[in-house]
Amino acid sequence: MTVDFATQAIHAGYDRRANGDAVNVPIYASAAFDMESAIRGDALAGGTTTGFSYSRVANPTVDVLEKRLAALEGGDNAVAVASGMAAVSFALLCAAEGGGRIISPTNLYGASVDAMESFFPQFGVHTDFVKDINDLDEVASKIGPDTRAIFCESVANPSTEITDVEPLAALAHEHGIPLIVDNTVPTPYLFRPIEFGADVVVHSTTKGITGHGNAIGGAIVDGGRFDWANGRFPQFTTVEQVISDERHNEWKSFVDAFGAEAYIRRVRIKYLRTFGAVASPFNAYLSLVGLETIGPRVSREVATATAVACRLTELPHVKAVNYAGIGTTGQNDLVAKYYPNGVGTILSFLVDGDEDNVRRILNGTKVFSYVPNIGDSRSLIVDPARITHREVPRAYREAAGVTDNLIRLSIGLEDAGDLIADLEQAIAGAY
Ligand SMILES: *Cc1c(COP(=O)(O)O)cnc(C)c1O
Repeated sequence: MTVDFATQAIHAGYDRRANGDAVNVPIYASAAFDMESAIRGDALAGGTTTGFSYSRVANPTVDVLEKRLAALEGGDNAVAVASGMAAVSFALLCAAEGGGRIISPTNLYGASVDAMESFFPQFGVHTDFVKDINDLDEVASKIGPDTRAIFCESVANPSTEITDVEPLAALAHEHGIPLIVDNTVPTPYLFRPIEFGADVVVHSTTKGITGHGNAIGGAIVDGGRFDWANGRFPQFTTVEQVISDERHNEWKSFVDAFGAEAYIRRVRIKYLRTFGAVASPFNAYLSLVGLETIGPRVSREVATATAVACRLTELPHVKAVNYAGIGTTGQNDLVAKYYPNGVGTILSFLVDGDEDNVRRILNGTKVFSYVPNIGDSRSLIVDPARITHREVPRAYREAAGVTDNLIRLSIGLEDAGDLIADLEQAIAGAY
């Protein structure tokens, strides 16, 4: 029996009987855990038994969130981390560390572009950017012996441009390369990349997953199908002390020790353990509470976003509306194939006039808050070129349509009529 998404969002990964029969997942505010016996301690330290010993590596509250997210994404395993950027960084470096290259479009979250363009190269990891991730010839032309990952966002922010995941995954797999998808914008309620061939999914749980703008967090979900022993990834087939048994002279690589789980175990044991961007149990709890309502919340926000986008197309001074859900971005086939329940809760629109008009719109809203976030239960407005995409080089920004007169909205749970009236008065008052 396949368990329905809505049921998984409430129950997956949690055993009440093992938690004092508590109906809500308890917050395990404990840095460390009793290892019980010398023999069990040895097995815990060596990774040959499951359990908890120290919360930098695993924690029971965070563990429920990891299991729940893995279930909701249709993955095998997940690691929760302290932020979406920790998730993006760990996921990409774990695949490409040691001089690898990544293929990626430039229309990404600002900090992701900045990391790949100017920061990861300091660690010897380089990115070959493509103009259009859906142009498979262009992507194929960048694949070389050092390519270790293809990275994209399922729905780009703020253009709502959609990546055609299935053929991209097939191309990646022909070359023994994994496809890593940032699925933050649609959330697993609207789209599950692993079902279409993606190998790894990353999230900023700060956004629609937690859903209330009250906790920073991230997650990496592994589909568990990719062959990390195919010769391209020496980091998975080289023996490592941390998972070996030196006293018995038993030496193992991540593939030897964990097989299909090699990637996600390496994220936890090398990246989380070393860089330490750990999700706190309290934030994991907030994410779990948020996840319980992800379906009704996101479906209502999508309906409101659709109504707002339609109304914006009729307003004076609005020159363009980017929301794939209403057909203004020319990707109707991809919407029909991948997003039958909507493309997400963000949209953007272009206005005429100059900087002062844009400022007056931003200052003039009363229901929308001027906030650099998305996926909140409150509706948010921002000017991406100056705020969220500030660190993106101008050429990339403009190719992604992030011009100075573009305004992004993240739609929350307020009344649709109030949101529309708020935009109408703010735009009317700005000219
Ligand atoms: C917000 C965001 C991130 C970064 O997440 P943080 O939780 O802010 O670190 C990464 N990718 C996308 C698509 C995002 O929207």
